[in-house]
Amino acid sequence: MSRILIAEDETRISAFIEKGLSSAGFSTELAVTGPAALERARSGDFDLLVLDIGLPGIDGFEVLRRLRATELVLPVIVLTARTSAQDTLASLEGGANDYMPKPFRFDELLARIRLRIADAAAGGSSILSVDGLDLDLRTRRATVHGRQVELSAREFALTEELMRNPDRVLSREQLLSRVWGYDFDPGSNIVDVYVGYLRAKLGAEHIETVRGMGYRLR
Ligand code: CA
Repeated sequence: MSRILIAEDETRISAFIEKGLSSAGFSTELAVTGPAALERARSGDFDLLVLDIGLPGIDGFEVLRRLRATELVLPVIVLTARTSAQDTLASLEGGANDYMPKPFRFDELLARIRLRIADAAAGGSSILSVDGLDLDLRTRRATVHGRQVELSAREFALTEELMRNPDRVLSREQLLSRVWGYDFDPGSNIVDVYVGYLRAKLGAEHIETVRGMGYRLR
């Protein structure tokens, strides 16, 4: 049975997560302050941490920073405010494996928890590889034919999403909601802008535009 640490000070939210996770067959423990979350996360007793940003004592960013100073492996999913792009970005840069914008549906959180636990359990295969592109989800390094490429947190997340769905067309809306995690103006061209950045860094041939539909990794 996988053990999940939930760091959340709002009872309504933690109860909702705990209830869902126990009925999905996980064991859970709750920490309601930053220091308690950090101490329990370092215990080695857990397979994953669900971490709220707004915690009393020390906030989630600081918990993450201190945790990552010594503990690199424990998967962390950060709960961010839906409207805060800044928080999302800071979470990924601070070493979170994933994030979930509030409010979220439980099944979305569950899917991400399962994915992250499976990644961690696969051990060495924290690396996604598609046609000369390699993405190491643990060290957050990207290489193209062995050459290391610097990606921002958002570029990394977009590359990961495309690499998890090779040969599938992902619409702009899907990429927006999965990578940016909150509602952008649907007329926003941010996805196209970032695809442009990625083509420049990874090589234009890797990302195909499917007219009127979206993008596909080849
Ligand atoms: Ca909170």
